[in-house]
Amino acid sequence: MRTQVGIIGAVPAGLLLSHLLHLRGIESVVLDTAHARADRIDDSRGCARAGHDGSADSGRRRRAHEGRGRAASRLRACVRRQAPAHRPHRTHGPLDHRVCAAREVIKDLVAARVAAGGALRFGVSDTSLHDIDTDKPSIRYRHEGEACELQCDFVIGCDGSQGVSRASIPQALQRDYERVYPFGWFGIICEGPPSSGELIYARHDRGFALISMRSANVQRMYFQCDPKDSVDNWSDDRIWAELHARVDSHDGQHVVDGKIFQKNIVGMRSFVSATMQHGRLFLAGDAAHIVPPTGAKGMNLAVADVRLLTKALNAFYVDNRTDLLERYSETALKRIWRAEQFSYWMTSMMHRIEGASPFEQQLQVAELEYVTTSRSAATVMAENYVGVAVRED
Ligand SMILES: Cc1cc2nc3c(=O)[nH]c(=O)nc-3n(C[C@H](O)[C@H](O)[C@H](O)COP(=O)(O)OP(=O)(O)OC[C@H]3O[C@@H](n4cnc5c(N)ncnc54)[C@H](O)[C@@H]3O)c2cc1C
Repeated sequence: MRTQVGIIGAVPAGLLLSHLLHLRGIESVVLDTAHARADRIDDSRGCARAGHDGSADSGRRRRAHEGRGRAASRLRACVRRQAPAHRPHRTHGPLDHRVCAAREVIKDLVAARVAAGGALRFGVSDTSLHDIDTDKPSIRYRHEGEACELQCDFVIGCDGSQGVSRASIPQALQRDYERVYPFGWFGIICEGPPSSGELIYARHDRGFALISMRSANVQRMYFQCDPKDSVDNWSDDRIWAELHARVDSHDGQHVVDGKIFQKNIVGMRSFVSATMQHGRLFLAGDAAHIVPPTGAKGMNLAVADVRLLTKALNAFYVDNRTDLLERYSETALKRIWRAEQFSYWMTSMMHRIEGASPFEQQLQVAELEYVTTSRSAATVMAENYVGVAVRED
């Protein structure tokens, strides 16, 4: 089989790229190891907390996310410094942003691709990349028991942090940067009413907590934990006690319990592959970079990569220009490092750091106090949280 752009990985970067290319008349085929379509979405990924970095605009303009407006709720983020002796404070910054479940975004994208007759191959296995340093790269894979080959002009690796694309770049050419955090997030999804009309970020001496709303009846909550802990150690009662301890406050804010139907633990790391291109292979999304989820930037960074690639591939096919493709890594990395810095900063400010000295703990509290009381500091935070403008041309 032959196509113009072969895309590895169907959620969410690969699906959006395929759809944006389709709207410009550029053909693509998307391959994914997962079996079903929307049903296979990994719920451990939580919500797309913000439609920033242009992801909401992309969706609106390309009509790829038609259902997203229905699923989304407009919330105002609120940062709480949660300590028994202090009243929590709200930020003053313009933190209005759009919140929607990643699951809904992906469902809408799959539906949009299917409605447009897009080529999606789910349930592939043994994916491998070939001749990526020539102008005739190909992807080999197995599908429904058959050995297949997809010949293309470009391969786009949207296959996440564990995919084959980044691993196909020769080791000697890879330039990676990584930080692994000594804590993780315990995540739950429960049925029940929202605890608040706002996102709640809480820092407590027991650790960080985040309360978000997936829909009017389903809630997503996280609290900082040992990444090596096991969900089996956490009964529902113990989870609610921990969330109440970290979030409830004397000003009437409290977590509303519900029926927990999913629990998981995720580790946290920051990672950047500074080699986002090799020959005709381009990496996008988590295949190239990971941010700790505190700043809610991961999916939004993936969407921003895809927008750049769409522009660059369009310039190639329509105007025979290669300059945007050649500058892809350099252009994308400016925005990625900004988001990495912000996510690292927010993570460091909001989490309990084991082994931190009393002096360091006081510095952390002072910083949070500043962000939640100074309009200037809150504005800087808001600008980064909802998407900072980084020049891309
Ligand atoms: C707890 C948590 C909360 C988060 N909250 C937010 C948030 O609020 N806002 C936000 O913007 N981001 C958030 N994120 C980050 C976000 O989920 C990711 O950044 C985003 O899913 C990355 O999308 P992607 O398309 O790059 O990769 P992925 O979502 O990792 O998708 C990769 C796809 O590639 C497929 N694949 C892998 N290997 C192969 C192969 N060999 N062949 C074919 N297919 C393959 C996989 O099956 C998968 O479907 C959160 C993440 C976590 C863990």
